[in-house]
Amino acid sequence: MGLEARDRSGDPQAMPPDLSVRSLRKVYPHPAGALQVLNDLSLEMSLGEALAIMGPSGSGKSTLLYILGSLETPSGGTVEVCGQNPFALDRAGVAAFRNKTVGFVLQDHHLLPQCTSLENVLLPTLPAGGATPALVARGKQLLERVGLAERMDRLPSELSGGERQRVAIARALINAPPVVLADEPTGNLDRVSAETVGSLLLELQREQNILLIAVTHSAGLAARFPARAELLDGRLQRQ
Ligand code: ADP
Repeated sequence: MGLEARDRSGDPQAMPPDLSVRSLRKVYPHPAGALQVLNDLSLEMSLGEALAIMGPSGSGKSTLLYILGSLETPSGGTVEVCGQNPFALDRAGVAAFRNKTVGFVLQDHHLLPQCTSLENVLLPTLPAGGATPALVARGKQLLERVGLAERMDRLPSELSGGERQRVAIARALINAPPVVLADEPTGNLDRVSAETVGSLLLELQREQNILLIAVTHSAGLAARFPARAELLDGRLQRQ
């Protein structure tokens, strides 16, 4: 497809993991006392791996995802993503980290209603100077890849829920992030659309050698991932 894939050259045994989380803790202050959500959580993953995280509501799944994406700060422990500790970066560094290293797919697509599919896909290119001809070409390729070649000039209001989520996936990949974090990516979709979106996410993850972590309540989606874990008592338990 011409959509460039990430490569890890050299001996994989000798390389540190692309994602390393050690002894992660997150405590939220609450009037009734501190709420410990993540407790001594550790996780190591490499590019090309995909993990589905399940667990009861309120167990801390979104909190973990937001910390990995530097949208939330940890109370303790260390996080390293592609050799970077996002919490040691300055403002510009964190902005670049969120823009280049991590792509997000959320339950609600958050597309801008006044922008076409292609314009929405290209939005993450704005902080680094906007869409070059190569990025416009990549945006079009991504939209073709998610089956929206005929819908590039449509507004979100002219698309189905599943189509909007496919635009959101293309947008998450426009800057070729090595890591993609998905929070209930199929949570708002009917069964057929959820299957299409789940398949696309996993196909693109494999094609582009992405490190994908998806939080989901869907046993069907989780079953299609090569690895699963449950977040219980603040820790990840591999299944
Ligand atoms: P999940 O995604 O597994 O449903 P969350 O990570 O959203 O769980 O939340 C875990 C717990 O932390 C919940 O009890 C929630 O109420 C609490 N929580 C989440 N965000 C905050 C916050 N910003 N301030 C205080 N408590 C929070």
